[in-house]
Amino acid sequence: MPETKIPYKIYLNENELPKQWYNLRADMKNKPAPLLNPGTGEPMKPEELEAVFCSELVKQELDNTTPYIDIPDEIYNFYKMYRPSPLVRAYFLEKKLGTPAKIYYKFEGNNTSGSHKLNSAIAQAYYAKKQGLKGVTTETGAGQWGTALSMACSFFDLDCKVFMVKVSYEQKPFRREVMRTYGASVTPSPSTETEVGKKILAAHPGTTGSLGCAISEAVEVAVKSEGYRYVLGSVLNQVLLHQSVIGLETKTALDKYGIKPDIIIGCAGGGSNLGGLIAPFMGEKLRGEADYRIIAVEPASCPSLTRGVYAYDFCDTGMVCPLAKMYTLGSDFIPSANHAGGLRYHGMSSILSQLYDDKLMEATSVKQTDVFEAAELFARVEGILPAPESSHAIRVAIDEALKCKETGEEKTIVFGLTGTGYFDMVAYEKFHDGQMSDYIPTDDELAAYRAKLPKIG
Ligand SMILES: *Cc1c(COP(=O)(O)O)cnc(C)c1O
Repeated sequence: MPETKIPYKIYLNENELPKQWYNLRADMKNKPAPLLNPGTGEPMKPEELEAVFCSELVKQELDNTTPYIDIPDEIYNFYKMYRPSPLVRAYFLEKKLGTPAKIYYKFEGNNTSGSHKLNSAIAQAYYAKKQGLKGVTTETGAGQWGTALSMACSFFDLDCKVFMVKVSYEQKPFRREVMRTYGASVTPSPSTETEVGKKILAAHPGTTGSLGCAISEAVEVAVKSEGYRYVLGSVLNQVLLHQSVIGLETKTALDKYGIKPDIIIGCAGGGSNLGGLIAPFMGEKLRGEADYRIIAVEPASCPSLTRGVYAYDFCDTGMVCPLAKMYTLGSDFIPSANHAGGLRYHGMSSILSQLYDDKLMEATSVKQTDVFEAAELFARVEGILPAPESSHAIRVAIDEALKCKETGEEKTIVFGLTGTGYFDMVAYEKFHDGQMSDYIPTDDELAAYRAKLPKIG
């Protein structure tokens, strides 16, 4: 085959946008464990889940067998506004590192929400609208999910109520304003608007909140408000399904040039971007058609895969949600307040947890100062100012590329650049001023949270 010069950006045509999502569960021999009813310990029935979630999304959540699911036209047409997203060859980063490795990144920051979250937000808003709902409630941590959902809800003319983790609400006032621009209402969590919020505030006065608290509040409001349902931006099977567009596009782009990745790297908070990016590649691996090294990268301050346990746990602090089997630190876990890099959820997608437990993928954790060092290097050579979350993947991609420099191996590395970091300048500022520290929980601290796991299974 003649040597083809790989372009700086591999763009796909509009008609190469995938017409179906890929449901990785269909190819998993060991399926992810079902959600359990915390009262009975039995698998959640569809009608129980439908009290909280939209019906069509419940169907997707429970579907472990259909490999491809059609993307409805309304969602497909919305995707066309900002997809297919580019797969970029990081020539300048390679040169800077002096590595023989070939590095590619799939850039998902090219929309106003600044992240991949819009891929699932628009799908969830569509199904809510189709069901005739008035609106949806949700939580947001760093703010990208809330922004993405606000955009999606305004597109379909739905009401959107966001509970935003208090520490982010205070640190990122402009995020809040973007959401309000799209018509959402934003409440700092924990709040006094919900019973569970009041309870959490009474037990932890002055708390800066957590995703787990905000989820409990959003669920409570959804269940109590006629015509509302709750939606979640990560962790759930349905979210990984929607995010498979990332991986499907990546695979199409690589196939066009006959490129086969050796290593695929993604940051992991709840696991949605990583689950989406790896989906078609993991599918090949599960079917025995190809092999890839797949690496999940998490913060050392919130290490659910690398230091958590694989067990049934609550998805939220208020314990109002179903139990999920996942790698978890315990639903009470709140990362240290000086942790700035996102990815602070205590658990991990059940799909990724099962794949990790089956040793089909690896996980590693990185310190936040190392993450910001990688972020800055990347910004200076590749031009894009990365989100701190994404920079976890950049860190490990750089480390793997530097290993290739030592061994002389020309490995092909693909990583997910999930978003931009314009709203994270307080964290960047701390890093530049030398004020950023690395807090890593001790074994004793983690054991104390673990002791409170529900005794199930
Ligand atoms: C939310 C978010 C993440 C982490 O969430 P996952 O569900 O693990 O993908 C990573 N990067 C960005 C930019 C995000 O907004």
